[in-house]
Amino acid sequence: MEQLTLLWNYQLADMEAERQETAMKRSPIRQKLLKYQDYLREQKALTTQIEEDVQAMVDRLDALKDAITHTEDQLKALQARFEEKRPDSSEGIQEYVQETQHLVQTIVGYEQEIRRINKDAGDRDHQQHDILMRAAKIRAEYDKLKTDYDVEYKENMQKLEQLRAAAAEKAKDIEPGWLDKYKAIKQHSMPPLAQLNGDQCGGCRMSLPSAVVRSVRGGVPVECESCGRLIIQL
Ligand SMILES: [Zn+2]
Repeated sequence: MEQLTLLWNYQLADMEAERQETAMKRSPIRQKLLKYQDYLREQKALTTQIEEDVQAMVDRLDALKDAITHTEDQLKALQARFEEKRPDSSEGIQEYVQETQHLVQTIVGYEQEIRRINKDAGDRDHQQHDILMRAAKIRAEYDKLKTDYDVEYKENMQKLEQLRAAAAEKAKDIEPGWLDKYKAIKQHSMPPLAQLNGDQCGGCRMSLPSAVVRSVRGGVPVECESCGRLIIQL
């Protein structure tokens, strides 16, 4: 059989395998599994973010507790100084009162921040809990669907292997140069071969120059300028 006829028959078998592969990729079960995977990945990123936030809160709480201890020490030192040597002027007493108030307010500020952080951390915990619950549910659905998908995949894969083997069988007697050309065109245009249709490319329906038409009719295939397919006439 002529090389171009062999190549054309190979393309028919190859495209059948391609259709099977595309159908497998578009399988509704597979699409759903991919969506679940995306969702689970997003939730994982969220929980990681929450864990980081909570860790930052814990660090801040430690710093605040240290700051409170430090300020309390300052307050005690101030009181001790006052007890040791009471100021004899009203300005001195005024100064002591102001300094005491300042330190007490500082501690109150720290304590307010601690309460706020504790509340935030609690909210974060709830959020984390909700995310984990939802993710566990989706994970269970994913696992269930995955079992169905594995069965479907196995069957489809068997069929695909048969189609690929049939195509390989058809490629047996084709010269490597033709197959290489076919594979190169397949990278950008499917199917890679088009038959001459009157004076048009059978792939993209572009009208071809008469020199090209003559060449193809004379048994010399030409690549279509518009779609890049190899135009042949059997
Ligand atoms: Zn074309």
